[in-house]
Amino acid sequence: MDARDRLRLYLEQRRDMGESEFVLDALPVDDVLRLLGDTQTAPARSAADVPPPRADAAPSVRERTGAPSANWRDALTSIGAEGPATPTPERPAAAAGVPSASTASADAAPPVVALPGTGIIVGSPTRALIPGPLAELASLEAVAAHVASCTACALYKTAKNSVPGEGNPIAGFVVVGEAPGQTEDELGRPFVGRAGDLLTKILEAIELKREDVFICNVLKHRPPGNRNPAPDEIRACSPYLMRQLELLQPRVILALGTFASQTLLQTTQPIGKLRGLVHRFHGIPLICTYHPAALLRNPAWKRPTWEDVQLARRIFDSAAQG
Ligand code: URA
Repeated sequence: MDARDRLRLYLEQRRDMGESEFVLDALPVDDVLRLLGDTQTAPARSAADVPPPRADAAPSVRERTGAPSANWRDALTSIGAEGPATPTPERPAAAAGVPSASTASADAAPPVVALPGTGIIVGSPTRALIPGPLAELASLEAVAAHVASCTACALYKTAKNSVPGEGNPIAGFVVVGEAPGQTEDELGRPFVGRAGDLLTKILEAIELKREDVFICNVLKHRPPGNRNPAPDEIRACSPYLMRQLELLQPRVILALGTFASQTLLQTTQPIGKLRGLVHRFHGIPLICTYHPAALLRNPAWKRPTWEDVQLARRIFDSAAQG
C-alpha cells in the first residue's frame, strides 16, 4: 500500500465515522477523496473545483473485498450511519430477564437506528498484532497447547486447568471475558458457571447459541479466589488473546466487562464510558458491555447490555452481507 492508498484509506475511515470537517490544505474530506480518485464520492459541486479521478486510481475500500474495513463500512451504512437502516429481522422475546426486542410488526417501516458515537480505534487493520514466537502459532489448537504449558505468570501454579477458549472458529462473532472462575478452572472451559449461564441467555436473546460463537478470556488461568487480574498477568497473557483474534478474524468482538474492554482498547476508561459506542480493534468492530457477573449484582445494567448486544448483532449481520 503506497502513501496515496494509505491516505485514501484514512480519509475513508474518517468519513465512515461521520467526520466531514477534516480539512487538508482547506480541502474538505470528500474533495480530497475525489482528488485521490474515490469512485464512491458524490460529484464535485463544480467541475472546476476538483480534477476528475485518475484512470489508474486504486479501488476504494468498498471495492476491495476481504478487508475488515470493507465489511465495516457496510455495517456502518446498514445501521444508519448513511441514510436509512437495513431492516433487521425480528428477534424473539428476550430470555431470563433481558429486556425484549422491539415489538414492531414485520410490515411496519424498519426503525432507523441511530449510529452510536464512535469510540476508540486501536491499531491498523494490516499490522500483525504481536511480535515474537507466539505470532508463529498456526492454529487455535496450537495456542491452546501453548497456554496449557505457559509459565509466563504465576497463575499456572494455583490453577487446576488452563482455559484457552472454545467455540466456532469461523463464526465471526467472538466474546471476550475476563478470566476463568472456579467452575471454568475445574472444567477447563470458559463461561460455564453462573455468569456463563447468563451469557448463554444473552446470546440466545440475539439468536446465537454458545456453539455459534467463539468464547475466550483475557486470562487463560484462574486468579486465586476470583480476584481481579493483575496488570503483569494481563501483560503476560494477552498475547494469546491477540493471536487468537488474529487467527479468528472475527466480524465483531463483544468485550465483556472492564478488563476485556480496557485490555483490547488499551485504555483506563471505565466500562460505563466504553459501552454504547462502536470501537475498532485493528479494523474489527468492537462492542463493550457489562460483564454478566456484574449484571447478576446489578440488574439495572441489563437494559444497556441488551442495547449493546443488539448492536453487536446488527454489525455482525451487516458484515455478513458485505
Ligand atoms: N467470567 C469470565 O470473565 N470468564 C469466564 O470464563 C467465566 C467467568
